[in-house]
Amino acid sequence: MIVPPHGRLFFERVATLRILLKTPMFRWLVLAAIGGTIIITAVVIARPVTVTEIVDGDTVRLSDGELVRLLGIDTPEHGEPFFAEATEFLARRIDGRQVELTFDYTRRDHYRRLLGYLWLDDSLINLHIVRNGLARVYAWPPDTLHYRTLVRAQTEARRHKRGIWSLPAPEPESLYVIHTKRFRFHRPDCPAAAATSTTSTRSRDSLLDSGLSACRSCRP
Ligand SMILES: [Zn+2]
Repeated sequence: MIVPPHGRLFFERVATLRILLKTPMFRWLVLAAIGGTIIITAVVIARPVTVTEIVDGDTVRLSDGELVRLLGIDTPEHGEPFFAEATEFLARRIDGRQVELTFDYTRRDHYRRLLGYLWLDDSLINLHIVRNGLARVYAWPPDTLHYRTLVRAQTEARRHKRGIWSLPAPEPESLYVIHTKRFRFHRPDCPAAAATSTTSTRSRDSLLDSGLSACRSCRP
């Protein structure tokens, strides 16, 4: 059989690819490229969803029954100041509406809720609620995709004493326990402070400025 020159080139390339695929290093590179593409696609591509219920300031229910916990933030609990305002804030903007949902590294928490970011007309709802002083930044590493942006919005809300930042600050400590990897700071006697943490004499404001979140149990 006579193979035309371009056909021969094709067969040569297939043969080269077959040899390359037998090389462990090349196989790993191909697998890594495929894996990377899958992860990036899952994180970046937004999924249209419809919000049917506002549970509180950081949790909503979707039309398919799924609960979504908004990532990177923590809003006041029932009975705490600004609980109603935070819930209202979400209700006014997204209740009954179609929004976009994007993910970070972790897809679900241990309550099986989806963990994500909600977008309305290209603006991030998680960020809006922080900027209005109705949520604190609360990072759960490794889900820190928008963490820096959220901290900047929180600094702005604190400077203007919006919402929760208009309340009197908690009793200060002369020393705080810091857990950098978890983005947290604690009171010195907090049982949740890990043994590996370091201590700091920096003020609460300075720790918040640097992007650390106040522990939810000892509330420093
Ligand atoms: Zn604590």
